Amino acid sequence: MSAGAAPAAATREFRISVGGPLPPAGREYLEAALGRSYAVRRLGWSGDDLDLQLAEPAAIEPVRAQVERLASLARTLAPDVRYLRRGAGRHGADPTPALRARGDVAPVAPGMVALAGPFLALTERIDRYWRRLARERAAREEEYPALWPVDLCRRIDYLREFPQQVLLAAPVRPSFAGRDAFARDHARSRQFSAIDAGAHLAASTFGLQGAVCDCCYWLRRDTTGQPDRWYTTAGRVFRNEAAPDSGLDRLTSFRVRDLMAVGSEEFVREAHAQMLADAARFLARLDLTAAIETAGDPFFANDSVLKNAFQASAQLKYELKATVPHTGRDLAIGSVNLHQDFFGRSLGIRLADGSPAWSACVGVGFERTAYAICCQHGPDPAGWPGLDAAEDTP
Ligand SMILES: [Zn+2]
Repeated sequence: MSAGAAPAAATREFRISVGGPLPPAGREYLEAALGRSYAVRRLGWSGDDLDLQLAEPAAIEPVRAQVERLASLARTLAPDVRYLRRGAGRHGADPTPALRARGDVAPVAPGMVALAGPFLALTERIDRYWRRLARERAAREEEYPALWPVDLCRRIDYLREFPQQVLLAAPVRPSFAGRDAFARDHARSRQFSAIDAGAHLAASTFGLQGAVCDCCYWLRRDTTGQPDRWYTTAGRVFRNEAAPDSGLDRLTSFRVRDLMAVGSEEFVREAHAQMLADAARFLARLDLTAAIETAGDPFFANDSVLKNAFQASAQLKYELKATVPHTGRDLAIGSVNLHQDFFGRSLGIRLADGSPAWSACVGVGFERTAYAICCQHGPDPAGWPGLDAAEDTP
């Protein structure tokens, strides 16, 4: 315990008025944003007062100011709905026990699962569906490492904006003393379930990727002459989160396919409209109770991020949300993102005339989509919608 770690006015329990009623989506947004910013132990409401219990001490005034700012932001969130279908799913129970009993989904650790059988085949069909669309657009298929160099993270400001989801990797200190200490502290005979990175690891120069498409933009950094072009890739992404029971709705590592469009503003705007239409067709094809709407994307809310970053992102991210009947909540299974010239500027991707390139992407998560299908149509493959070309209805 370091002396004086907690400032004088610090506490762990807060009751803060949010200054009037918040709609349910606003409450959800506020709760999610606080969860990404603080180590939250418990969060509840008494009327319009927020009861917040932290696992870390914090000074009252900054937390109060933070909550008030987030609440006023939450009030302005009016989702732009591009697709809405209700009453499609017929199944109501949690499909997880049946999937586990069949051996399709096996827990590895919190946030980690192994897949097999019909459920694995379903995730592959979801991938094939989007890959086929990519081929129709003559997209260039690329394969990237699942790792991001720290330099990439820095240039897109990922570490400042998403510290809550960062996962870095680092080697053991590259010296005899470092390797010797590490080896001795971690013999099988020792009792440990975590490793003290500060004591044993060298500085990190790469991390686990938080999205599959960023490497596409990174590859084209500091170039001039970017053509109007579609790209596609599938890969594994990593988030510092986990459902304690290894539920399929919140995995630390999951697979995604993205279709990306990079080029002129005109080309990318048109591609973005196509992506929204593709996503709507996909959800209709899956026969899901679902929506496509703008996401008030909760973010790590320290002062600088709050002041600068958020409002600009409104209307730029649409989420594909499927209802999970047995929880009554929506699950984001994909997204359509218009980055405008964010990557073009951050990474120096220029069109032939020297102006920054625009970009957009659509991404669909395989595990969550397959899970949503099982939640709404049941775990029996006979009830699942057709997705392959051969299954196309004329
Ligand atoms: Zn993407």
